[in-house]
Amino acid sequence: MTPSGKPVTKGEKMNSQKIIAMHNQYVMPTYTPELALVRGEGVRVWDAEGRKYLDFLAGIAVTVAGHCHPRLVEAIRQQAGRLMHVSNLYYNEVQPQLAQALSERSLDGKCFFCNSGAEANEALIKLARRWGNPQGKHEVITFRNSFHGRTLATLTATGQDKVKEGFHPLPSGFALATFNDIDSVDQAASPRTTAVLLEVVQGEGGVLPATPEFLQALQAWCAEKDVLLLCDEVQCGMGRTGDWWGWKTSGITPDAFSIAKGMGGGFPIGGVSAAPRVSDVLMAGSHATTFGGTPLACAASLAIIGIIEEENLLANATVMGTRLRESLAGLGKAYSWIKEVRGVGLINGLVLEDGVKAAGLAHLLMEKGLLTLATANTVIRLVPPLTITDTDVDEAVSIISEACAAWEPDIEEQNI
Ligand code: PLP
Repeated sequence: MTPSGKPVTKGEKMNSQKIIAMHNQYVMPTYTPELALVRGEGVRVWDAEGRKYLDFLAGIAVTVAGHCHPRLVEAIRQQAGRLMHVSNLYYNEVQPQLAQALSERSLDGKCFFCNSGAEANEALIKLARRWGNPQGKHEVITFRNSFHGRTLATLTATGQDKVKEGFHPLPSGFALATFNDIDSVDQAASPRTTAVLLEVVQGEGGVLPATPEFLQALQAWCAEKDVLLLCDEVQCGMGRTGDWWGWKTSGITPDAFSIAKGMGGGFPIGGVSAAPRVSDVLMAGSHATTFGGTPLACAASLAIIGIIEEENLLANATVMGTRLRESLAGLGKAYSWIKEVRGVGLINGLVLEDGVKAAGLAHLLMEKGLLTLATANTVIRLVPPLTITDTDVDEAVSIISEACAAWEPDIEEQNI
């Protein structure tokens, strides 16, 4: 029973109107959702009225195995019935198995577990400071247009002013450089620089891949200056670029990197994987989080790793990504307001001309049954589950084609 004496709503079926009204009354208005979704299966979700959508947003690059993959559901169900949480004051049998699986697929070092992408990046920043402090170093260089999360440290690290508005004073110890410009890294550096943190594909920033030349130069610069190279793999990790990690696709090797989003396929879990050089920097008492690495979250993540490998989802991400980009590139030629299609594996952007706002097109796509996300004003971001098939890609492209034909960027939006 609720304090008001009414029974809790478990089992009660609510329509979209009721869900939205209740949400607006009781949930802080930090988001502006448009749809009330109640069910998912594979690449599809359903709203409260039973309307079906093809989900090329995947909970913002999270549900890598699709919705409610039977193996993930079963792993969660079994672990929930055995042991969910004991705290890190005790060992649990699942956490080291996940750490081993991730380390063997990345840097052969050790892992730390937490609950979200921002928290994973906080851990990276703390690791970099703890490593640098004995040498008098603490500053972290990040990049313009990047996104690293919403905690105070990670929004300060983020290279976009809009996330900082109203939250000053911000923590010190961060410097901004220009993405794909190695000279600007040198200019942002000081004797206090301890690390460089970057996304190899800037996701929120508009699906902008770093150039191979820049990444090679950055790795060499970090080695020369004895500065840690840290990757934020929150969005492009866990197979999205067609390898386990975006840095692998890009041909560099960081000292440590953050993971979240796809890591639990929808179950919240984040983490850091660190190379042996820095894997013992965060010692007992230096960092912690109550829910980090619970048996339940780790069981979900282990199931996701199993699914990715058994269903060949890394290769599928590469093949489906190529199919998607090629089809969209063909479509793009028909509209003067489409600038380009860019991306790697299954993190892709349909980029509109400067000044043409993508939000209107994303809304129309939703009305036509395709979930996407407008990002960086002019980009439609497509980050579907890694399980998508040829048929899903073709259906998505056909909906995009139909929407483009029907869409008229309005006068304010048109600046081309
Ligand atoms: N880093 C990157 C690259 C992201 O894309 C995001 C979220 O979009 C984050 C960090 C923050 O992750 P979370 O929302 O789980 O805190």
